[in-house]
Amino acid sequence: KLYNEVQDLKGNIRVYCRIRPFLKGQSKKQTTIEYIGDNGELVVTNPSKIVKESHRVFKFNKVFSPTATQEEVFVDTQPLIRSVLDGYNVCIFAYGQTGSGKTYTMSGPNVSSPVDWGVNYRALNDLFHLSQIRRSSFEYEIGVQMVEIYNEQVRDLLSCDTLYLDFHTLGIWSSTQPNGLAVPDASMHPVTSTADVLELMNVGLMNRAVGATALNERSSRSHSVLTVHVRGTDLETNAGLRGNLHLVDLAGSERVDRSEATGERLKEAQHINKSLSALGDVIFALAQKSQHVPYRNSKLTQVLQSSLGTQHVKRGQAKTLMFVQLNPDVESFSETISTLKFAERVS
Ligand code: ADP
Ligand code: MG
Repeated sequence: KLYNEVQDLKGNIRVYCRIRPFLKGQSKKQTTIEYIGDNGELVVTNPSKIVKESHRVFKFNKVFSPTATQEEVFVDTQPLIRSVLDGYNVCIFAYGQTGSGKTYTMSGPNVSSPVDWGVNYRALNDLFHLSQIRRSSFEYEIGVQMVEIYNEQVRDLLSCDTLYLDFHTLGIWSSTQPNGLAVPDASMHPVTSTADVLELMNVGLMNRAVGATALNERSSRSHSVLTVHVRGTDLETNAGLRGNLHLVDLAGSERVDRSEATGERLKEAQHINKSLSALGDVIFALAQKSQHVPYRNSKLTQVLQSSLGTQHVKRGQAKTLMFVQLNPDVESFSETISTLKFAERVS
């Protein structure tokens, strides 16, 4: 059943667009969202310009309006997530400018209230739940890793020492896998319950803040990658399977004005720019079924290689979903257009 749902997808890549609402207490601004169709159609316009060219039409697998709940978003993501228990490698990203709702979608605004949970907590919760349901025929082990990629350096967020990681060594569970090379040697933490996950994520968030002047500043300029590894054993045949799920909260995609940014800020901007375009190139190459997929151009694409590619896994075994996050306010219009163009290219 699960296999079919996933194989029904046309390509390996699907794109969901999510528009965040205007925030409470924000002065009333004009929206750039003109129309949201049930079929994934989105029309944006710049209301402050009467020129016709400002009216643009885009098409996605799905568009979530500002009123969409965390639950609604998850329901449409669930089949993909569940396929990890059948041995698929799945990658879910949130892409968009800072403030567009990436963290809201992936983690949620408030960990202590389950209705607010984003995709990552819901995903793990659901994987535990489904593995329980299947326990008479399958035995599953689930482990998580969490890394941050900042200025092309990979840091383990779940380790006590905050050393940067290299790619010389293999992840413990992945060393026997053909796709093991893509996983850096970040610490692996077995989890058996949502409580375990919440505790680990807290450690990760705390480590993320270490050494950073301001958490928000830093988190908008680094990519965070939560990897869920699944090992399953068929209790009847003893056959094993492996799947992994990458949940990625990307660095803000906004363009930085070269004339204004200097020093550290300029360096950060260049690294973000480079890694996001490397990501775009990889997804584009995969969508085109191109022979050469340029994974080596950034740490981000190297870390994600196993779940982005079809190179080391059986064709069709890697599935990608991108959340394209939009801030509807008129001042964000040009960033909205550049976000939508990125999405258009990879879909
Ligand atoms: P990003 O991670 O892209 O920088 P955030 O997820 O931090 O953006 O969102 C920016 C602000 O907007 C936060 O205060 C967040 O709680 C709020 N927000 C984002 N998406 C939604 C949504 N769908 N509903 C309500 N508030 C949202
Ligand atoms: Mg964020």
